[in-house]
Amino acid sequence: MAMDVRVTNAKVQQLKYSSKVNQDRVSWNLEKSGIFTVSSLRRHIDDLTLPVGTQEWNLHRLVPRKVNILAWRTSLGRLPTKTNLTKRGIATDLSCSLCNSEDETENHLFLQFPIVKEVWNQLQLWWKSLPQLPSNISDLTKWVEPSTAHNLGLQAAMKFTYIWVMWLHMNKNKHENILKSQKNLASEIQTLSHL
Ligand SMILES: [Zn+2]
Repeated sequence: MAMDVRVTNAKVQQLKYSSKVNQDRVSWNLEKSGIFTVSSLRRHIDDLTLPVGTQEWNLHRLVPRKVNILAWRTSLGRLPTKTNLTKRGIATDLSCSLCNSEDETENHLFLQFPIVKEVWNQLQLWWKSLPQLPSNISDLTKWVEPSTAHNLGLQAAMKFTYIWVMWLHMNKNKHENILKSQKNLASEIQTLSHL
């Protein structure tokens, strides 16, 4: 399997140290705090070694690399959902960790779960020209740069940010049982997407 050269190069560059505050200090680019952590390195190695197949992904310049990478993994069906983990023999139970009533697929988590529809409705109240929540993952992860088609490019940035915020939220729910309100989630997406 081939690695996507463009994305891989971009990720390799993240590994470099940079001076954020002044020339005498170095910081770890993979963490917001600038402090080195093993988990950030592990995540990064995971990203570097992810096989890409033939599908290419250009980094969308309006969202951070980590958000791009998550959207890209989602488009390839490579998120650690229960369905994907079962395919790899890691899990045996397919049912959604949040509602237990459907199989845990990308489709269910991002497009069908009741709370995600509510979050999307909130986003539409804020951004009137935002279309309905897509009915399939390939529409949700469709890559469009604003330079190609302005409004569609902005929508792509919003969709990728939506995937990022919802995925983090769902994982938090699994592990810490924290439930944020739809309004909070929608405003987090608005803030992070900088649109
Ligand atoms: Zn569910």
